[in-house]
This record gives sequence, C-alpha cells and structure tokens, in this order.
Amino acid sequence: MAGYRELLARVKEEVEEISTIDAQALQETPDPPLFIDVREPDEWEEGHIPGAIHITRGRLESRVEGLIPDKQRPLVVYCSVGARSAFATKALGEMGYDDVINLAGGFADWKRNGFEVTIPRVLSAEQRSRYSRHLLIPEVGEDGQQRLLDARVLLVGAGGLGSPASLYLAAAGVGTLGIVDADVVDESNLQRQIVHSTDRLGEPKVLSAKRTVEALNPDVHVIPFEERLTSENIERILADGWDVIVDGADNFPTRYLVNDASVWHGIPVVHGSIFRFEGQVTVFSPGEGPCYRCLFPQPPPPELAPSCAEGGVLGVLPGIIGSIQTNEALKLILDRGDTLAGRLLLFDALGTTLDEVTVRRNPDCPVCGDIPTITDYVDYVEFCNAPLHLGL
Ligand SMILES: [Zn+2]
Repeated sequence: MAGYRELLARVKEEVEEISTIDAQALQETPDPPLFIDVREPDEWEEGHIPGAIHITRGRLESRVEGLIPDKQRPLVVYCSVGARSAFATKALGEMGYDDVINLAGGFADWKRNGFEVTIPRVLSAEQRSRYSRHLLIPEVGEDGQQRLLDARVLLVGAGGLGSPASLYLAAAGVGTLGIVDADVVDESNLQRQIVHSTDRLGEPKVLSAKRTVEALNPDVHVIPFEERLTSENIERILADGWDVIVDGADNFPTRYLVNDASVWHGIPVVHGSIFRFEGQVTVFSPGEGPCYRCLFPQPPPPELAPSCAEGGVLGVLPGIIGSIQTNEALKLILDRGDTLAGRLLLFDALGTTLDEVTVRRNPDCPVCGDIPTITDYVDYVEFCNAPLHLGL
C-alpha cells in the first residue's frame, strides 16, 4: 500500500508537467492552452490565472466533459502547489483528454514569479442572501447581479412612475440611481406616489425618495438632482454617465428634452405615461428603433393638451406602468430577453387589456432621422402630461 507521498511521486512521474515560466509564455501565444483551476472556491476567489476556468477537484470528472467537450484541446491544470492538480491531470488523461499538462509549482509559483492574476469580484455573504432569488435564475445569476450592482440608472421624476421604479430598481440591487425632480411631497401625491409618505409632506421628493430607497437597500447609492430638467442642466446631469434612463416625467417639455439627449448620447430610454385609466410603455433605444419624436415630432400646442386637473389618474396605474418600465430597465442592464424597442404597449386598467402597436423609426424624424433638423435642445412651454395618441 502506497502512502500519500509515494502515491503523489508516482502520479507526478506519470503526468506531463510544465513550469510556470513556460506556461506563462504559452499563455502569451495567439492560441494559448486552456487553464483549469481545480482548487476550492475560496482559493479561486482570492485570485486565479487570467482566462482560467474553475472546476473543483471534487467535481472535475463529473463536470469537465460538459465544459470542455473537445478532448484534443490543450489543457494546463493547476492547484496551489501542483499536487491536487497532478491527480486531476492523471484523471483527465484517463478520461481521454489527449493534451493535458500539470502546472508544476501551481498558483503559488505563478504568483511568486509576479505573473498576472485575476481577482474575481464576488458577492458578500449578505448580498448572496439578499439577492438569492436572483442568483437562482440562470438569466441573472452572479454575473447578472454584479451587472445590476454596477449599473447606473437615471430616473426622471420621483412621482407616480418614479415611485415603483425607484423601489424595484433599488430592491433589485441597481447600484446607482440618479433621481431628478424639483417638487416637494404634497398630500395629493400620496394616493399613488408610494416612495413617499405622510411624514415627508413638504420634503423635497428627491430626498424623500433617497431616504426610502437607501433604507430599503444599503447597496444602492442615490444621487439626487433637486431641479427641473432643462436645456441648461441636462448636459451636466447626463455627464455623470448613465446606462439607462427611466422617463417618468409628468410634462412634455421634459419628455422632449430627455428624448433628444438620449439620442445624442446613445442612452436607451424606458418611456412611460399615464392618464386616468390608460397607460403606455415603450423603450426608445437609439439605433435599434424609433425615438419619441419619430412618433410625435413636436408637442401639441398647449391649448390642445389635456388638462391635468381634469385628468386624474387611478392610483394603482402608475404602479403597473412604472413596474413594467422597471422590468424593461432591468432587461436592458442584464442584456436579456426582448425589450419593448419598436413596440408600444397600451394598458387599459378599466377593461384590463394590454395591446401592442408596432412603432418604427421615421427616416424623416427631426432628431434621429437621416437628415436631422433639430440639433440643439428646445425648451417648450410647459403643459400637462398625458399620453399622446398615435391616431390609431
Ligand atoms: Zn426619431
């Protein structure tokens, strides 16, 4: 019976080995071998060889064929010092892998030589627990959750649509939320603006939303912009760099400003609007579909726009529309699924119906068309919000 040392010595004689210096030189070639790290997860998380894949020694035989179906592919196997990987190398050879080499000296020697190391970003134990229902979905998983944590979403408006959007984006772990709104919390807001509360009456909406959101999830950093979006400040606000804009604006001038800026900056906008019992949602994704001006080149004259006071809105409607907007924003960040780019979703809360209209980029659009006629911001006279109709 062979003891461990004897067994290891025997296995090391049976497998091919490569020094870390030679392996590193191979890695610099145009067609480098694939490095397999067979260490434990905590060792992998502290750093690994760039480009390596991780399969723990215990799962090697059961998982390797799924991950590396090509048995002719050149492989370099490593652990911390080259012992566990020697056994792994032998096992892979027995499984039919033709070109498999053990890294002598392992990761410890690699590091000692000062070669490049990748330190993977990992979620903390608290984050694993908080986002566990995301980690269970393959379409999100740990990579997707990191993307969400790295993401920057600008919310235009902290009102009816901004309320569910800010809450769900924060709950999902979107790491940075910018919120633009100049208003203070008013009693008449509380019928639908659920990010605010009675004890916040008179408080700036951006600060009220920041408090609620940061209490919900300390991973989220809120950047408040306590101002009305105008042609004067929009470039400064956008200079912070945003991945997605969620437009919950309650007025047309802002909506046109957001649209024009998003086209010029190439930022997708998740658009939502609400009126009484009806809501509309779509995604304006520069280069992928129409912009708001493709549909409505100019705002209607103020005298023809619906009046806010007469309008009203069912309290839950912004909850529904703002949640659909959030769903679109999350998919844009995760790069998963099909967004509403090129499709306008129409929701009727009275009949509980959801209709969809195809919308196309207009080559004559004044902003995103072939020969743009609007190339600078326009400040329109302010009038109230309502969804514009396509005359359908
Ligand atoms: Zn357009």
